[in-house]
Amino acid sequence: MALFDQTATEHLKGLESGALKSVELTQTYLDRIRAVDNRVGAFLSVDADGALKRAEEIDERRAKKQRVGRLAGLPLAVKDILCERGKVTTCASRMLQQFRPPYDATVIAKLREADAVFVGRTNMDEFAMGGSTENSAFQVTRNPWDLERSPGGSSGGSAAAVAAGMAPLAIGTDTGGSIRQPAGLCGVVGMKPTYGRVSRFGLIAFASSLDQIGPFGQSVEDAALLLETIAGHDPRDTTSLDVPVPAYSQSVNKPLANLRIGWVREHFGGGLDKEVESAVRAAFEVYKSLGATLHEISLPHSKYAVATYYVIAPSEASSNLARYDGVHFGYRTDEKEMLAELAADRRRLETAGDKAGLEHLDSALVRMYRRTRAEGFGPEVKRRIMLGTYALSAGYYDAYYLKALKLRRLIRKDFDDAFGKVDLIAGPITPAPAFKIGEMSGDPLAMYLVDIYTVSANLAGIPGLCLPCGRSQAGLPIGLQLQAPALEEERLFCGARMFEQATDWDKGRAKL
Ligand code: GLN
Repeated sequence: MALFDQTATEHLKGLESGALKSVELTQTYLDRIRAVDNRVGAFLSVDADGALKRAEEIDERRAKKQRVGRLAGLPLAVKDILCERGKVTTCASRMLQQFRPPYDATVIAKLREADAVFVGRTNMDEFAMGGSTENSAFQVTRNPWDLERSPGGSSGGSAAAVAAGMAPLAIGTDTGGSIRQPAGLCGVVGMKPTYGRVSRFGLIAFASSLDQIGPFGQSVEDAALLLETIAGHDPRDTTSLDVPVPAYSQSVNKPLANLRIGWVREHFGGGLDKEVESAVRAAFEVYKSLGATLHEISLPHSKYAVATYYVIAPSEASSNLARYDGVHFGYRTDEKEMLAELAADRRRLETAGDKAGLEHLDSALVRMYRRTRAEGFGPEVKRRIMLGTYALSAGYYDAYYLKALKLRRLIRKDFDDAFGKVDLIAGPITPAPAFKIGEMSGDPLAMYLVDIYTVSANLAGIPGLCLPCGRSQAGLPIGLQLQAPALEEERLFCGARMFEQATDWDKGRAKL
């Protein structure tokens, strides 16, 4: 097995024993990036010099027996949505193409303190809006298992980076599935923590009541290790929960006795690919062989989850994205051109004697806003802003936004009821394995429907994890989703690890 095919937990053993140096490890991943990322397109920027310098420092400190952090010397990739002081943080948008944050996100600060080695920033759907990474303003990311196919999204760059052995660990964000779905399509482990478990301070907001930051890795242990490092209370995020963080990486290998697993009747209706269904059902059998019991449960409001999510998420987005106005920060339209355009419009209206038109002519400020936002945002982001603005407008607020909030409560209650009977819920992560690039980009509704199994965890605020559980005939990974009650990440990791230990799906690597 090549070094870059090993897990972070394995690397850490080598680093701690002195058998492996961070410089060597970091160089291995940088070489791998150089060798394959021109085909995959996972990274928006790579900081080879910075990473090697940092690795050297950590090796020196280790050699001198000085204190080092939890992830000391491990290379790590970060989705380009977390603010990193002085580093361009684009959110894959033209709007933030030049944006250098003056501060670190809390998660970045924690990773820095843990002595992780940042190798680069990963591609994503613009402002995390999408499920294919095709909505990036800069490049398309390809699935390492089949370069014609999408890695999923919006954290497609992070998932692909781990799947292709370009980083052992990566950070993603999940508002409606953006960690779990690409993890599933790329055959790696991805996890969305409980809402409030990880600080959102310094995370560029998409939908603030749904956004969570979480880990990607090649194994459940790796994801546990990374979550343990980034989780915890942060006074700078008022929604951050002030509860202790268990040592997930210590407890992950404890199998759960008398585990009751729920499978959701509504998950096995129409629209589920046969190969995905049989891989997921085979996973249920694995659990039975491990002593778990399976129980049929119902989440009666899950049929409304996609509709609810696509009212709430765009509504919050329309408000969060109001700040990109060309004044506060980010891209601004060319002012000379803008003034010339305005003057030409005025002349045209004057010549035509159009009094009403003249009265409604933009001020220079409004024209600047209009042009800035028209040029700075891509089509999917504009679609979300329009959907959200509509749903929040005075005449439609009750009919859409308020109704969606009521449904959100019912969806949450479905989970509360279900978790009265079972410890974990298991099921598919996506209706089908990875789709072709371009296959859905012309059909936003089809794209939104891919989120059918993922969005309810965000609406309910509960943790969800995806790990590989099979392969399609065409050789594409199939993911299994597990969900647990709020703050039961430990149970989620232990349950996932049981499956991982009993099977070999985690051993497969994309051939590149
Ligand atoms: N695919 C979903 C969307 O487009 C989820 C995105 C996310 O989790 N960031 O909104």
